[in-house]
Amino acid sequence: FDDRDGMIWWDGVMRPWRDANLHVLSHGLHYASAVFEGERAYDGNIFRLRDHTDRLIQSGKLLGFEIPFTADQIDAACKEVLAANGLTDAYIRPLAWRGSEQLAVSAQQTKIHLAIAAWAWPNLFGKDRMKGIRLGMAEWRRPDPRTAPTASKAAGLYMIGTLSKHAAEAAGFDDALMLTSDGLVAEATGANIFFAMDGALHTPTPDCFLDGITRRTVMALARARQIPVHERRILPEEMARATEVFLAGTAAEVTPVRQIGDLSFTPGQITATLIADYDSLVRMPPEEVAKRAA
Ligand code: PMP
Repeated sequence: FDDRDGMIWWDGVMRPWRDANLHVLSHGLHYASAVFEGERAYDGNIFRLRDHTDRLIQSGKLLGFEIPFTADQIDAACKEVLAANGLTDAYIRPLAWRGSEQLAVSAQQTKIHLAIAAWAWPNLFGKDRMKGIRLGMAEWRRPDPRTAPTASKAAGLYMIGTLSKHAAEAAGFDDALMLTSDGLVAEATGANIFFAMDGALHTPTPDCFLDGITRRTVMALARARQIPVHERRILPEEMARATEVFLAGTAAEVTPVRQIGDLSFTPGQITATLIADYDSLVRMPPEEVAKRAA
């Protein structure tokens, strides 16, 4: 992934992709003092850019650091990266981390760095996702919010994501469904989950995982369609009652789920409607998005 053409923005300077190398003694690598974002551009507009930038800044604050760029500067840099790479439809990855100025648990002297890359990445689950993906149950649970800053999109919180996703893939699934530390339904490894039950949408309360920007968008779209939305504690036993299931996330977009463990689901009307509404919203001008996604 590193040996390719392209430009990466790094602390205010546009560098060739191949030369965007980091020192091996970077604090972020050893102690996971790093936060990131995942954004998508459609037709040249980055969907809900300011929401992603705000979350990036907030993620850093939750790890005790201040990213040394303003939200306006970060927004502008994301757009510059798209332009420098000649992209209009792309995935954008800002990353902020503690540098290599000091290497110990205490890292007060480290500088905070910010890099932003962008590349073409059609969908997390590929072209065939519309028939529905299959989720295995993860062995790892989301940490209790008292044991980790779970509202931060922090690199360290993805350790269990990668472990769970690899285990699911080894068992023939596309992704894993993680539970909360109390055993409630939480989320997939890189997206939030929704269930249709009795004509309404149900989604877990985001108390130990990200309240995703796509999640909130989908909730607004559902309400605009008069589909009731319930955020609540969902027990794994309740999943058998769902008539439809889907994931929502920037990379996953809205992706139907056709299996969770031994349970089977058939993607239906609610999922199809929300996929169509989401796919059309992301291509609207940012002012229109702000009105409809709020
Ligand atoms: N949960 C996890 C673990 C994620 O990585 C993501 C993707 N950022 C989400 C949920 C969904 O967040 P968003 O819709 O803001 O992309």
